Amino acid sequence: MKPFAKNIFWAVVILVVVSAIFAEFAGNTEKIQKLTLSELSSKIEAGEVKKISVSGNSIEAVLKDDTKAETQKEGEAGLTQTLKNFGVSDERLRAVEISIMDESGSKIFLTTVLPLLIPILIMGVFLWFLFRQAKGGVNQAFSFGKSNMKLSNFKKDKTTFADVAGLKEAKEELIEVVDFLKNPKKFLDLGARIPRGILLFGPPGTGKTLLARAVAGEASVPFFSISASEFVEMFVGVGASRTRDAFAVAKKASPAIIFIDEIDAVGRQRGTGMGGGNDEREQTLNQILVELDGFDRDTQVIVIAATNRPDVLDPALLRPGRFDRHVILDLPDINDREDILKIHSKDKPLVPGIDFKKIAQRTAGFSGADLANLMNEAALMTARKNKKIIEEREILDSVEKVILGPERKSRTISAKEKEITAYHEGGHALVSASLEGSDPVHKISIISRGLAGGYTLKLPDEDRHLKSRAQFLNDLAMMLGGFVSEKLTFGDVTTGASNDLKEATALARKLVTKYGMSEKLGPVTFGNTEEMIFLGREMTTEKNYSEEIARQIDGEVSKFIHGAYETATKVLTANKKALEKIAETLIEKETIEKEEFEELLKPFKIKILTA
Ligand code: ADP
Ligand code: MG
Ligand code: ZN
Repeated sequence: MKPFAKNIFWAVVILVVVSAIFAEFAGNTEKIQKLTLSELSSKIEAGEVKKISVSGNSIEAVLKDDTKAETQKEGEAGLTQTLKNFGVSDERLRAVEISIMDESGSKIFLTTVLPLLIPILIMGVFLWFLFRQAKGGVNQAFSFGKSNMKLSNFKKDKTTFADVAGLKEAKEELIEVVDFLKNPKKFLDLGARIPRGILLFGPPGTGKTLLARAVAGEASVPFFSISASEFVEMFVGVGASRTRDAFAVAKKASPAIIFIDEIDAVGRQRGTGMGGGNDEREQTLNQILVELDGFDRDTQVIVIAATNRPDVLDPALLRPGRFDRHVILDLPDINDREDILKIHSKDKPLVPGIDFKKIAQRTAGFSGADLANLMNEAALMTARKNKKIIEEREILDSVEKVILGPERKSRTISAKEKEITAYHEGGHALVSASLEGSDPVHKISIISRGLAGGYTLKLPDEDRHLKSRAQFLNDLAMMLGGFVSEKLTFGDVTTGASNDLKEATALARKLVTKYGMSEKLGPVTFGNTEEMIFLGREMTTEKNYSEEIARQIDGEVSKFIHGAYETATKVLTANKKALEKIAETLIEKETIEKEEFEELLKPFKIKILTA
């Protein structure tokens, strides 16, 4: 319920309760007989009254037949005197039991005070609710200027360099910082200027936060962390005051580390004008610069900032004396991946002898965070199977799950569709296996995963940073392998190949327009693709070529695709028997692993071609 609706609700509840109480009172008084004073007097004289109780000016009488009667007397006069004035004799009066009740008793409260009080109470409660809401807002507004920095408990959950695998150069760079924090005198005596700002560059999940934390852990100093986006609020000026507060807090705790995550949120080049007026961001950035400049030579606070968009940072941030140390964190290579996997399996029960090298090999392009997630997935999968120990199987399955999405075994497919999928995937795998320099096939499966009906997993033996034209041609042919296989086998094609075709076309276009790999158009790039800074995605493509060139580009793209189509057709026609064998095995077993696949192809003596 919304707070306002809630208030109304309570007001109504209170009203209902109060009226119920009043209704009860009204009901009681009805049964009482109203008498004048002289009538009462005559009843007493007649001996019909048993008891009288006086409360203030009202008199209640209980008659012999147990009915009740009520009357009023004048204010000043006493009761007995009044009754005597009405001619009640002394003896008669003595026979009546008289009790005087205190006027400040519950009755006066209920009859006079409460009716006055209740509306006031209701108003009060109502106002209190309103006020409380308003106050919440006010409090928030007052705390705007405070930074909400988090101080991690650096004594208890201490992170050290041992928790960070790989990143050798980055660690070497940061060891000096640790040394300074531990032992500043050594540096100051030599007149050295201490680094104030360190900028960690790297793709998401490469361990920037982890490494910053490890520096604090190694030096045993407090670690204050804040995300730059938290500086920036709705109101101009808040970011600057939060920055001031953050630095003041850290200086008080010095030696200390301030970690500013995602600094590109405020540190973007000023005056680019994108995204409207960004006064707030500029002011915050200026304040950060002012704070950095304001450090004394012996201020023992080190600011570590992290970003994955170094290209968009304002040059003023990177000047000497500010964030002048730049540490680059790369995606882990195969050895680092192995180490990261080992770190993240420390706290998990694993079957001894797991081949981490093999897992590292299958996880090219994974970041540290992806690998941590992978081990977690493996643990979850093991738990789901009600097993106590994680085996290699679970880790490998998790790799596929992370890459391709979860298996969808429940999707029932008809025998015909299964056959088509088997020939389709078999086509991909066989083309890949028959081309010179193609990456080995690690797994073929016709179990649908995520959106794919089946998949052929091929992975490089080692990390690759460069890719040649020949490798791209292999890729194109392999991408078309599924389509061609369906066509050759069934004389028809299905929608199952649509994603392959889309990817192949996109790749062919890149070869022509980006990599200069078309022979006809030569080493020229076409179209200026700008990334929109805020979204980090390709947004606009400036067309800087003529219609004539556009037609030639289309022609070249189509030539690449047709070349790939021919290569795939050549391979699959020449090895029809092998394709059938793969498809049959797939229909029977649903998945084929690398070793099995190689064994299966041996008798066919596949001729290796170049695409
Ligand atoms: P970033 O800040 O660069 O986005 P994080 O430091 O938050 O990445 O990393 C996320 C998680 O990934 C870490 O908590 C850690 O579990 C894991 N991780 C990343 N890189 C490494 C590494 N080099 N060694 C060990 N674990 C890593
Ligand atoms: Mg981070
Ligand atoms: Zn396919």
